[in-house]
Amino acid sequence: MKLYNLTIHELHEKLKKKELTSLELTETFLKRIDAVDGKIKAFITITRENAIEQAKEADKKLASNKDITPLTGIPISVKDIFCTKGIKTTCASKILSNFIPPYDAHVIKKLKDAGAVILGKNNMDEFAMGSSTENSAFFTTKNPWDIERVPGGSSGGSAASVAANECAASIGTDTGGSIRQPAALCGIVGLKPTYGRVSRYGMIAFASSLDQAGPMTKDVTDCAIMLNAMAGYDPQDFTSINAPVPDYTKALTKDVKGLKIGIPKEYFIEGLDIDIEKSVKHAIDVLKKQGASVIDVSLPHTEYAVAVYYLVATAEASSNLARYDGVKYGHRAKDSKNLIDMYRKTRSDGFGPEVKRRIMLGTYSLSAGYYDAYYKKASQVRTLIKRDFEDAFKKCDVILTPTAPTPAFKIGEKTADPLTMYLSDIFTISCNLAGIPGISIPCGFTKDNLPIGLQILGKPLDEETVLKVSFAYEQATDWHKKRAGV
Ligand code: GLN
Repeated sequence: MKLYNLTIHELHEKLKKKELTSLELTETFLKRIDAVDGKIKAFITITRENAIEQAKEADKKLASNKDITPLTGIPISVKDIFCTKGIKTTCASKILSNFIPPYDAHVIKKLKDAGAVILGKNNMDEFAMGSSTENSAFFTTKNPWDIERVPGGSSGGSAASVAANECAASIGTDTGGSIRQPAALCGIVGLKPTYGRVSRYGMIAFASSLDQAGPMTKDVTDCAIMLNAMAGYDPQDFTSINAPVPDYTKALTKDVKGLKIGIPKEYFIEGLDIDIEKSVKHAIDVLKKQGASVIDVSLPHTEYAVAVYYLVATAEASSNLARYDGVKYGHRAKDSKNLIDMYRKTRSDGFGPEVKRRIMLGTYSLSAGYYDAYYKKASQVRTLIKRDFEDAFKKCDVILTPTAPTPAFKIGEKTADPLTMYLSDIFTISCNLAGIPGISIPCGFTKDNLPIGLQILGKPLDEETVLKVSFAYEQATDWHKKRAGV
């Protein structure tokens, strides 16, 4: 087994036993990036010198056995939506193509404090709007399982970098599925924590009532390790939850006896790929054999989720993106006649077509005369979606569904029709609207050898049960051990 194929917990053992230094490991990953990223294109920026410095620091700690965490000296990548002090942070947009933040996002600081080494910044859909990375202003990332296909999105660069073994793990953000859908399409683990569990400070805002950061890893144990480092109260984010952070690795007991798993009929619909349906049903049987009981539940407002999401998310985006006016930071158009002309030119050149579409949709639904019919109505239906989950969770501990209706699709296949692209998030969006935690874990392959993801949703702040069920399933199968042949 090559070093770059290993998980965080396997690498940690080697670092701890001094079989390996973080510098050697970091150089191994940087070489791996040099070898494969020309093909995969998972990175916008590679932070070689910083990574080497961080690795040397980690080696000092490892040598003295002081302040060691499971992440000390572990090379990771991060989505280019997280502000990184002194390092270009573009959000895959032309408007931020030269933006160098003066501070680190809260999660970046936490990961650095835990000793992680940051290799670089991952490609994504511009401002996290998309499901394929095709909306990046720079280039499209390729799926390591089949480079003619998309890696999913918007955290597609993060997912591909993990699946192509260019890093040990990554972090993404999920507003409507952007961690879980690319994790499913690339055959890795991706967790969207409860809204408020991880601070949004320094994470470039898309739709603030939905945005949440989370880990993207090779297995469930690594996911728990990363969440341990990322989660926790942060007074700089006013929606941050002030609740103690458990040690999530303690939840990985394999014991699911007596746990109740809910299966919502609204998620097994026409259009669901047949191989995906088979794999998910098989996963249900695996968990049953391990002693979990399975019951039918209903989430009756599921059919409105995509419509509600595209009203709420675009409304919030139109307001959040108003700050890119060419005045304070980022791109500024040259040769403008006056201030209004400068705003117009800056925003016309700076934003890509999907971002412009959403700003227009959002501005429209918030405008006087339309607000009640669209935004207000969507907020009311959002409450009904949230109540569906509250009712379902009275009967079960977790809810199990497919993560995405199809496996990775071909590059260019859905770009002409935004609506078909929006439908790739049909199973992930409700979780964000309800603010609950959700994970995607590998659960099989299609006949074309494309990875399939299983989604497990949990009660608010109950990431532990989500991880427990995920771990039990993972340990009974070996999908997570498969590596893409890049
Ligand atoms: N694909 C969805 C969208 O385009 C979700 C994106 C996300 O979670 N950031 O909005």
